[in-house]
Amino acid sequence: MKPQFRSLLLTLLLATLVSAQNISEPRLEILHPKPDMQFWVDRIEVAGNIPQGSEVTIAGAVVSPDEDGLFRHLIDLETPEVLIPISETRGNEVFLDTIRIFHRNLDHMETDSTFINNNIPEELAIHMSYPRSGKFNGSQVSLRGRTHPATSLLMNGDTVKVFASGAFAVHVQVEQGENIFEFSATLDDSVVSEIVTLSRPLDRAPLTTLDDRSAQPRREHWLLAGDHLQLAIRGPASETVHFKIPGITGWTPMKEVRTGYYAASYHLVNIDGVTNTEVIYRLGTFSKRVRSAPLRIMTDAVGGLTIHEDTRVYDAPSTDQLLFPLADSVSLQIIGMENRMYRIRLGQYRTAYVLANRVELTPTSKLTSPHYLGSMRGENEADWAVFKIRTGTTRLPFEIKEKAVPARLELKVYGAKQGWEWTTYPEGDSVIAYLERSQPEDMVWQMDFFPKNSFWGWYGRYEGEYLVIGIRKAPEISKDNLFENVIIEIDPGHGGWQRGARGVTGYAEADANLRYSLKLEKLLLDAGAIVFLTRRDDHQISLADRARIAREDSVHIFVMAHNNAPGSSRNILEARGASTFYAWPSAKVLSDKIYPHMHNMGIETSGKVARYYYYLTRQTEYMVYLIEGAFMTNPPEEMFLLSEEGLDALAQAAFNGLEEFLIEKAENP
Ligand SMILES: [Zn+2]
Repeated sequence: MKPQFRSLLLTLLLATLVSAQNISEPRLEILHPKPDMQFWVDRIEVAGNIPQGSEVTIAGAVVSPDEDGLFRHLIDLETPEVLIPISETRGNEVFLDTIRIFHRNLDHMETDSTFINNNIPEELAIHMSYPRSGKFNGSQVSLRGRTHPATSLLMNGDTVKVFASGAFAVHVQVEQGENIFEFSATLDDSVVSEIVTLSRPLDRAPLTTLDDRSAQPRREHWLLAGDHLQLAIRGPASETVHFKIPGITGWTPMKEVRTGYYAASYHLVNIDGVTNTEVIYRLGTFSKRVRSAPLRIMTDAVGGLTIHEDTRVYDAPSTDQLLFPLADSVSLQIIGMENRMYRIRLGQYRTAYVLANRVELTPTSKLTSPHYLGSMRGENEADWAVFKIRTGTTRLPFEIKEKAVPARLELKVYGAKQGWEWTTYPEGDSVIAYLERSQPEDMVWQMDFFPKNSFWGWYGRYEGEYLVIGIRKAPEISKDNLFENVIIEIDPGHGGWQRGARGVTGYAEADANLRYSLKLEKLLLDAGAIVFLTRRDDHQISLADRARIAREDSVHIFVMAHNNAPGSSRNILEARGASTFYAWPSAKVLSDKIYPHMHNMGIETSGKVARYYYYLTRQTEYMVYLIEGAFMTNPPEEMFLLSEEGLDALAQAAFNGLEEFLIEKAENP
């Protein structure tokens, strides 16, 4: 402990005594760091929330919160154990708190390359990291924790392997009822034990009546006359269940499609005028009736206008199958509502869903007849070739897809038709070889952009009364100095209170990501690249800010530096290997180039190259790919990521892949 901390601690103790007389409690909320957290980086953010009218002092520095009451302050970690004094001043009252954290030693290798753990506590202990005792819903789990690497460890009498890092893990079945797992560690004359008790709830008892919470629709539901309404409810097995839609049907029998689950489909024909109703379910003849959420049957589409700059379009009424984003003030044609999402019509046969709270209803739909588009004009603007299509005051939904074979951008504008056709290409040397227009449907206008070479980024957005499509010009890549003109953003994933995946010993992905990002930065700088990092210390940044930073830095390539963790029911001793991810074909080429180099890092390889539509991978203004270096949760891979040697190998693999990609681009742009 450093002397200055000792004196601060004294002051703290005194002040705590004084403040203990106050009845009111501090209202400061610390988001990060949590007590006893471990860090493998040198500079971390202290962050939290503080109410209006209060002031916060962190390690002697007065820190002012932003308008939302969030305060953030960076501190350097200089000692193995760090005490951070935090005080809140409200009027005349002072509240003090101290957070203890640990700054971990990074040196993990003996001269003979065997892994050592310099962070072992003096006293023998077992620290379980997951799961905690209590209610547990899964049927299997990897119990994990850390102890002294030289202990003999038993779980319920069976030997458990302890890795050189002190990590251990056992994959177990979790039965219904109470499960007791007792760990005991023996080292020399000391024995310690730790018990984890998991209670898995029993299966639900069979129903004796209709389950009103399962009556479909469970949330307000809108449909168009002519649609099919799907009905379902849970109840006792082998019974007679009927439904009725007042004003539309009489009592109609349902089918038991599986034990205790009754379903029916009803075709909504002969509806005159908008009908607000509901579905009523009945068990047998006289039982209690169960009602659904409100049901509205519309005879026409309703108009809507997006009211958020990041409204997203999904292909199902759930929130994970994203199709494309929409800007604000885009006109929509709404033909239903389900699960708090509006169903919208994009083409004759194509429908999609948007969150209802991102759309304002308008009395009439603007998209019942086609909007005629004006001419498209191409221009050169610094690093971009830009195409402007006059759309007028109505913003139509549009979708851009980068397609692989042949390489092209496919732009579809929904609700549009070609008006006066007059397309001009940008003057001089353009990135575009050819443009091809088509009208696949009466209300769907399409333009395909065929590039001269490969894509380096693109965008589509509304600017005033124009839909503007930008296509990034390729950097000049010379064989003699591959990286000279290439601008790269490295994005160390997570940070601050977003720790990412967690290793068994407590090592956070946020730290591992930053450590290898700094190494990759050095390799790239030495090779002559222009390099930016979205963060250089441990602090929180939103995904939107990461994307914006890269746009402002006008980068060509965006490297998402991450490490992996499996789903909670997987065996963490088995889930391992490096992977790369991308969303667009041009970035797949990069992902494919990096991946083989990750087979030479010295860890087992069982990963993959995969397409995944994350918020950041689906950014388009630059080439984005995601590196999942190794599994934080797998003890041997965690040791790999703890060591400088492992991180060097990971950074080198990421660099070699980029270099190979650029060598190919220099030969064949
Ligand atoms: Zn991550």
